[in-house]
Amino acid sequence: MEIFCKNLPKIELHAHLNGSLSSATLKKLGCLTDSISEYQKLNTLLETTPETLNDCFPVFKIAHNATNTKENVYTATQSVIKDFHDDNVVYLELRTTPRNGDDFDKETYIETVIKAICDYKNCSGKTESMIIKLILCIDRRHDIRTSSEMIDLIIKMKGKYPHVIKGVDLCGNPNEGKFFRGIFEKARENGLKITLHCAEVANSDEVMEMFEFKPDRIGHGTCIHGDFGGNEMLWWKFQDLRIPVECCLTSNVICGTSNGFEGHHIKELIKNKIPFCICTDDKGVFNTDLSCEYFLLSKHFGLDKMDLWKICFESVDLIFDSDEVKRELKKVMMNWMEKNFD
Ligand SMILES: [Zn+2]
Repeated sequence: MEIFCKNLPKIELHAHLNGSLSSATLKKLGCLTDSISEYQKLNTLLETTPETLNDCFPVFKIAHNATNTKENVYTATQSVIKDFHDDNVVYLELRTTPRNGDDFDKETYIETVIKAICDYKNCSGKTESMIIKLILCIDRRHDIRTSSEMIDLIIKMKGKYPHVIKGVDLCGNPNEGKFFRGIFEKARENGLKITLHCAEVANSDEVMEMFEFKPDRIGHGTCIHGDFGGNEMLWWKFQDLRIPVECCLTSNVICGTSNGFEGHHIKELIKNKIPFCICTDDKGVFNTDLSCEYFLLSKHFGLDKMDLWKICFESVDLIFDSDEVKRELKKVMMNWMEKNFD
């Protein structure tokens, strides 16, 4: 099953650039052993509680320090893309929050990441190339003015690179900051798709506000069902809307928002046929990859090879790209199925 999961052509829709750095990439960026261990320290915790989620965010400082020059942002982006390609990801939506560094401002940061995406050469030895798109994030800890300026910059950059920038995300520590609906309405009016980190912690008022906005996808969607920190009203509304969920199993288990793999809320999504995709979130921080996430899904929820293929196939409909790209990807999936199933 591990080999099957590895070979499966996969779709990754929730991957943070700065959380996806492997040990090899961190080394290449000049990180010392101590800071690499610090970056991966959450994996060594013996016990996690919902408070562990708060410990996740300071770890990203290590990635930021390691990518404080344009050159390192470029190297990190290319390395992360190559890791996903090596893992047989055929379509990747990478996400990152624009920031300032030693020799770049937010706009140059976006330009550098896009240059790394566009320059990426297929050096994975695979015949399949990979399609790579970008989602730009708004940090929920930022105030309305900073978020407003950020969305204006994102809209400007989308005008310049419409073939790469496809969406906007709300990210950051869910125990801080808030969701400014107007910012995302403006992004939507300008042709950007919206995904929101949603219901990572119990916060029914905010989750309802997000549902009323009707994002194109949500990240995690943990505390919606009554058994998982949500309530009946939220679950009822969610079942009506059927917003696709980006599920990140290992991330939720390590951050303590899910009570082990078997206790993951994905079981309610499967049972109620709510659309979802399987994603890594921060493969470097949580020491995982997308193949591993598919394997864990099959192991803990009793899914067979065809179930996993179907999840991949149906994830194509959730991408933030054109119908033409969807058709192309479905063809890749169908061809693979014909070759790999009797
Ligand atoms: Zn995330």
